[in-house]
Amino acid sequence: MKRNLAELLHEAAPGAAGCFNTLNLDMALAVLEAAENLGKPVIVGIASRHFEGMRTALRAPAYLKAIESAGIPATLHLDHAAPEQVDMIREALDLGFTSIMIDGSHLPFSENVDLTATVVELAKRYGAGVEGELGAVAGEEGVADTGHDAPAALPYTDAAEARRFVEQTGVDALAIAVGTAHGLYREAPHISLNTIEAVAAGVNVPLVMHGATGVGDDAIRESVRRGIRKINFFSGLLQTGMDEVRAQAGVKHNDYLGVLQSTHTRWRVLAEAQIRLYASVA
Ligand SMILES: [Zn+2]
Repeated sequence: MKRNLAELLHEAAPGAAGCFNTLNLDMALAVLEAAENLGKPVIVGIASRHFEGMRTALRAPAYLKAIESAGIPATLHLDHAAPEQVDMIREALDLGFTSIMIDGSHLPFSENVDLTATVVELAKRYGAGVEGELGAVAGEEGVADTGHDAPAALPYTDAAEARRFVEQTGVDALAIAVGTAHGLYREAPHISLNTIEAVAAGVNVPLVMHGATGVGDDAIRESVRRGIRKINFFSGLLQTGMDEVRAQAGVKHNDYLGVLQSTHTRWRVLAEAQIRLYASVA
């Protein structure tokens, strides 16, 4: 059941919706199956970094067909479009994406506001929703790294700035810097729950956490309790896919279909665990 970003996050509340970037249709189907098994909404993402290489123009119709026929609310999301990728945003909207993230977090505040407001205007014409970002999340989205230190020294998102940003841009969701990073951590990061609480108190839109792979379950639950409503999870899917490749590396027979099937199962099981966790706000 196809939804736009705002609708989907509303339906997921008071829990958070999982957003899983994918590299192929099979990965997307595993994520959708996981959400269907739990009866929870889900966001299927494609990162801007992978958009061209995946030949998204060819794949998007199949993704959308899968989303439309899923038994749960789902959204096709373009993740981390950069300031110079407005053409890609337009292409994604033309293809039927109903959620766009514009990442102007590395720009000065006023330029981030102007860019994000422009994308909100554009997306509105298509009935799509927009996620902005304020306060940079460390590491690069969609890169299969081997582990980095938790970004303790990075500044957290300022609550007063976040409020002005949401008012001036009209975004449907806001990604904030709360101590997470993209990629894998060497040790669990420290999440600033105070930052989440302070930002949530001043804005009327769902907040987004990026870089959830490796964040402890308790920290995730506390973050959702304080206002996180969308959680991006990707590195763990790469990790479990590679675990399966390594597990099969010594096998002599040519059962490649078996590898595809067991990888699919691993993705589904992992996505299920994450979706269940994000939805639980006891
Ligand atoms: Zn991200």
